[in-house]
Amino acid sequence: MTLQKDPIERLVKAFGTLPGIGEKSALRLTYHLLRSQPEKGLELSAAISDVLNNVRRCQECQTFTTADLCPICQDESRDKSTICVVEQVQDMLAIERSHFYRGLFHVLHGAISPIDGVGPEALTIDSLIKRLEKGQVSELIIATNTDTGGETTALYIARLAAPYVNKVTRLASGLPRGGYLEYVDSATLGAALKFRHDL
Ligand SMILES: [Zn+2]
Repeated sequence: MTLQKDPIERLVKAFGTLPGIGEKSALRLTYHLLRSQPEKGLELSAAISDVLNNVRRCQECQTFTTADLCPICQDESRDKSTICVVEQVQDMLAIERSHFYRGLFHVLHGAISPIDGVGPEALTIDSLIKRLEKGQVSELIIATNTDTGGETTALYIARLAAPYVNKVTRLASGLPRGGYLEYVDSATLGAALKFRHDL
């Protein structure tokens, strides 16, 4: 058994696995922590551990939550006949901020991307279809991003969902092509939802 490698190297490597963090940034973060008061680093470490131990996926919509069901899925006043499918939790938060939508969500945790080796089975499409099979959803709004991966995913889901719902819709054009939902302002997002079209 090999001994634990150098702790500094270990942390640099761990930071380097995060999106957008290259080797230089990983080094900068590591040495910043070492120079800071120990409580700051320990608080970060405790927060990470708390999130990883206590946050799980909602059994229905697959968003991150601390209970079996997230607050939106638990909310009796939400319209349970509509599900809005998004790629990431951040997209769901953006739509919530627009205050236009009162239905339920489904978070895919990604989009189909053959180049990156991400197939449909890596997403939460199976659990979405299981929700639709219960027969309570009449409209599925597909709010995946407008880039190639998002469009491919939208068409794939539309085909699978068609037998279970009355209509499958897509957000109206007007959203920036190739854009990411989480960066779209609330008014534009509200309008895109309002003028959604059939797929
Ligand atoms: Zn939920």
